[in-house]
Amino acid sequence: MTKTSHIVVIPSPGFSHLVPILEFTKRLVTNHPNFHVTCIIPSLGSIPDSSKSYLETIPPNINSIFLPPINKQDLPQGVYPAILIQKTVTLSLPSIHQTLKTLTSKTPLLAIISDTFAYEALDFAKEFNSLSYLYFPCSTFVLSLLLHLPKLDEQVSCQYKDLQEPIKLQGCVPINGIDLPTPTKNRSSEGYKMLLQRAKSMYFVDGILINSFFELESNAIKALEQKGHGKISFFPVGPITQIGSKGLSNNDVDDELECLRWLKKQPQNSVLYVSFGSGGTLSQRQINELAFGLELSGQRFIWVVRAPSDSVSAAYLEGANEDPLKFLPKGFVERTKEKGLILASWAPQIEILKQDSVGGFLSHCGWNSILESIQEGVPIVAWPLFAEQAMNAVILSDGLKVALRLKYEDEEIVEKEKIAKVIKCVMEGEEGKEMHERMKSLKDSAEKAVKDDGSSMKSLSHLASHWEKFGGI
Ligand code: UDP
Repeated sequence: MTKTSHIVVIPSPGFSHLVPILEFTKRLVTNHPNFHVTCIIPSLGSIPDSSKSYLETIPPNINSIFLPPINKQDLPQGVYPAILIQKTVTLSLPSIHQTLKTLTSKTPLLAIISDTFAYEALDFAKEFNSLSYLYFPCSTFVLSLLLHLPKLDEQVSCQYKDLQEPIKLQGCVPINGIDLPTPTKNRSSEGYKMLLQRAKSMYFVDGILINSFFELESNAIKALEQKGHGKISFFPVGPITQIGSKGLSNNDVDDELECLRWLKKQPQNSVLYVSFGSGGTLSQRQINELAFGLELSGQRFIWVVRAPSDSVSAAYLEGANEDPLKFLPKGFVERTKEKGLILASWAPQIEILKQDSVGGFLSHCGWNSILESIQEGVPIVAWPLFAEQAMNAVILSDGLKVALRLKYEDEEIVEKEKIAKVIKCVMEGEEGKEMHERMKSLKDSAEKAVKDDGSSMKSLSHLASHWEKFGGI
């Protein structure tokens, strides 16, 4: 048999679908240097600065091929990011195919690993005699839901939000229909049809790599393995997060970033870090309410402010252009200058979470943010906005009990009094202390999972041995 060690990795556009799979690739080539990896990177055109500066840091031992950007006019208007991300990959399929053809004319291919939104590229695996893997950048909980979705779709006739009883997935906390991912809100929407299609396609892959770890979701992972799900093998390989934001070394960070200097001067566990991920946005009214809520709470804070929008994911793929500070309530910055620091649009999140003074994270509950918070042992004020974030908030608050969740009231606004109360509870209440303890123990398990004999490293080695056998290495 020919010795084959070439693997192709296909991310999809959007910071949180690009970075984790590339970080996984780095971990793979570092720990198993006998595999040779090429990343084929689809692009939507105007890459946000965050992704641009990340892409500059891909090490030379990973081959990267940047596909020509797709024509933006071919994309539907006014749809949410998940649809744009997936359509970008669909439109890039001809160039992905051509690239695979060129690559395989020189060396045979062992496996294709694609991000969950790039799953259509896995259809090429058969043609090139290779194995097919999905890289799932979310929780096992969400994966369990997607694997169950085709059945749920057959069983349930109403909208999921109208279900009277919570959905019980094996090994997972019960989940109300209203908290399912955004595309499920309207079952006749294109977004839902695409989600269902994506869910069905999972049954045709050889394996799924999950950015989670056994100790975090042991029951859900065990349930997936026991249930079998056809020929799919599951590999929890997380937590996989960026090693430092924006590629700054520790020295650069200390020298250059004022916010870190400010954080170093604050007492231990006294600062709440407030951020809604790489593109989450609030309405103007909600920005005001959050500002007053922070003020009312009396806590120290560092807030990454983004210009308002009525669409919660407005800045996800485009980045923000307007100066967000002008949208804060009049006098707010002046009144809170002793206790608060405002950052415009983007922050070095990982370095911030590492600071001893950070004692809480008000987060939109993107899975990467959650893993990063766990890795630093920081409890969470959960404020989910879109995608699968409400499910993540449920794991944190109902399952792991390391977060308190803020919910929208009737008028779709989270009110300042409620914000202040929950923040105080997490930052200085008895409940907050208990959450801190539980987070510390998760932090320890996260550290262990990626050590040489840890659960996630073992899972990666298991996968690598399987590939070696398949490739005759
Ligand atoms: N991030 C950052 N600075 C910011 C906002 C986000 O470094 O100001 C990074 C964050 O560390 C995380 C990612 O962007 O790795 C956000 O991913 P997540 O899954 O939490 O949310 P999403 O952006 O997908 O909504």
